[in-house]
Amino acid sequence: MIIILSPDATQKNKKSIMDRLTHMGYEINLSEGKERTIMGAIGSNVENKSEVMAQLMSLTYVENVVPILRPYKRVSRELKEKTEIKVANGVVIGGKNIVMMAGPCAVEGEDALLEVAHKLKAIGVKILRAGAYKPRTSPYSFQGFGEKGLKMLSRARAETGMAIITEVIEATDAKKVAAHADILQIGARNMQNFNLLKACGKIGKPVLLKRGLSATIEEWLLAAEYIAKEGNPRVMLCERGIRTFETYTRNTLDLNAVAAAKTLSHLPVIVDPSHGTGRWELVTPMARAGVAAGADGLLVEAHPRPEEAISDARQTLNLNHLKQLKKDVKAIAAAMGRGLI
Ligand code: PEP
Ligand code: MN
Repeated sequence: MIIILSPDATQKNKKSIMDRLTHMGYEINLSEGKERTIMGAIGSNVENKSEVMAQLMSLTYVENVVPILRPYKRVSRELKEKTEIKVANGVVIGGKNIVMMAGPCAVEGEDALLEVAHKLKAIGVKILRAGAYKPRTSPYSFQGFGEKGLKMLSRARAETGMAIITEVIEATDAKKVAAHADILQIGARNMQNFNLLKACGKIGKPVLLKRGLSATIEEWLLAAEYIAKEGNPRVMLCERGIRTFETYTRNTLDLNAVAAAKTLSHLPVIVDPSHGTGRWELVTPMARAGVAAGADGLLVEAHPRPEEAISDARQTLNLNHLKQLKKDVKAIAAAMGRGLI
């Protein structure tokens, strides 16, 4: 439920409600605005919820009590307006600045990773993406360097100071990946791998949750709720394109979902125009569109020589194209009253 306090509620009043609800097993989310304090209370199994709501309503310093209607309570925008996620290197996702995450699809070896990391850093990229574990459609395709790849990512972080985002595909690997990553990526194919969601929820590190290939917006938000329910509210939603009848593009980047997620949830929303289109020449236009639709960040595949990329070469930008993308997106961001880092 959401409890809206009167403007004249004192700190003592607030504490008294919080103590009472905590005692009943509720988790409290407090947002103290300039005018009003709003308390979100979730998670209790009390049976007489409507009675509790009526009792709270009878307090003189409570203006209103309303139930949270969405099935995803913790990530719902009814609970709070926005979440800012601070990553290890100080970059904030979900704030005023749009955040660029870029890198190759996969870790392709230590020298290759260090080369791309240094080159991306020189372009101003602060978060490096690269998969050590690759969920490939074909079992004959390159499956990633695994644990060795994680160590290469740690080395790239140590050398460049960039934060690392990398995918975790098994619940049992979550801790191991978290030891090397600053952001855990849950891939589209694993969006409803509930054990993986729970395992990532138990780790304190930020999680980027990709939307499943054919998941509805509600299913995506409920998947995010699994992570938040385990005690980790630092979740980002990533739209990476869905399956439609169209075959010219690899997927159809669903910008409706970007705008909708911003109205339904307080979590930051990231757009991945690389997997969303599957064609490098469409990546920059769709990155611009994603930011115009309200995205808080971009996840882009980039490589110094895309023609040598081991996976997803067709959708990978070269570094000149990435520079142009940054320039373009900066202009769109400015039009939205935002910056780009
Ligand atoms: C990736 O980011 O390289 C990836 C495998 O993405 P997705 O899960 O969106 O296919
Ligand atoms: Mn990829």
